[in-house]
Amino acid sequence: MTELDVDPSGASPPSGDEHRGVVAAGIDVGGTRIKAVLRHGSSIVNRYVEPTPPDLAHRFGEVVTAVLDRVVSAGPGRPAPRSVGIVVPGLVDERGGVAEWSANLGWRDLDIRAALAGPVDADVVVGHDVRAGLLGEHLLGAARGVDDVLFVPLGTGVAVALMTGGRVARGTTWSGELGHVQVAADGPVCGCGRRGCLETVAGAGAVGRRWRESGRDGDARSVAEAVAAGDPVAQRIWQDAVEALAGALAPVVTAAGSRRVVVGGGMAEAGAVLFDPLTAALLARVPDPGLEVVPAELGEWAGAIGAAHLVPATT
Ligand SMILES: [Zn+2]
Repeated sequence: MTELDVDPSGASPPSGDEHRGVVAAGIDVGGTRIKAVLRHGSSIVNRYVEPTPPDLAHRFGEVVTAVLDRVVSAGPGRPAPRSVGIVVPGLVDERGGVAEWSANLGWRDLDIRAALAGPVDADVVVGHDVRAGLLGEHLLGAARGVDDVLFVPLGTGVAVALMTGGRVARGTTWSGELGHVQVAADGPVCGCGRRGCLETVAGAGAVGRRWRESGRDGDARSVAEAVAAGDPVAQRIWQDAVEALAGALAPVVTAAGSRRVVVGGGMAEAGAVLFDPLTAALLARVPDPGLEVVPAELGEWAGAIGAAHLVPATT
C-alpha cells in the first residue's frame, strides 16, 4: 500500500471539493486492465488492479461493484466512499453518465450511471480516462502547480486532454480526439475509416507497423531501441512520428496558451529518445520559447487517481 500525499501548496483542488476527510473511490476501466484507488482526504490509501474481462460490456455493474468492494477492503478499517468516479476511454457523455462508444471495450451507449444506481450506495460520477488522467497529473504528478497544461498519453491511440486556468476542458464528446485529425491526406487508412489520421503515423501501433513493413520484427519499443542504437530506418520512422505529433500539438498549445506538455503512455517510456526530438520539434513550431515538455509521473494510475477526485455535480 502506498501513501501518496498532496502538497497543499502545489495543488489546486477541483472546484467545490473539500479534500479533508473525504473518502472517494476512483475506477479506471481500460481495454486491458481495471485500476482502482481509494482516497482518504488528500491521500491515496488503497490501490487495486485486475484484468478487464472480455464480456465487460454485458455485466458492467457486477464487475465494477466487485472492483469497488475489493479496493475498499484492500486496507483495514476504511469507511465506505461517499463518491465513486468511473472513467472510461472513447466517447463519453460525462454529464449524462453514458459511455457512448469504445472500440477497445466494444460498447455503444452504455448507461454507466444506471448500471451502478442499484449496486453502488454512493454518488457516481462518470468521466473520460484521459481527462481524469490530466486531473491526476495536475493534483499529484507532472502538472503540479501548473494550470495551463496539455496532457498527451501516447499509446496505440492518441487522445489528449487540455487544462486552461486550472480547469479541465470538457466540450463535446469529441474533445481531445487529436489522433483522428488528418495529418496526411494520402496516409494509411485509420480504424475510424478515414485516411491519414495522426494515430496512423504517430501512434505506437503505426510506428510498430511501419517497422515490420521495413522487414524487421518487433513493436514501437523495438523501434525506440533501434533509434538509440543509431539504426537509420528506425530513426526515419521515429522522426516521422515525432514531426507529425509536434505539427498537431503546436497549434493546440499555442491556441490554449499551454505552459507545459505532459507526455505519458507506452511511447514515453522511451525517455530521451522521445523527449529530446519532440521537445526540439515543438519548440521549432511554437512562438513560446518557455514551453516545457515533461514525462508523466503517475503512469497507469493517473486515470484512477483523477477519477477519485471527480466531484459530483451539484446542479
Ligand atoms: Zn482516425
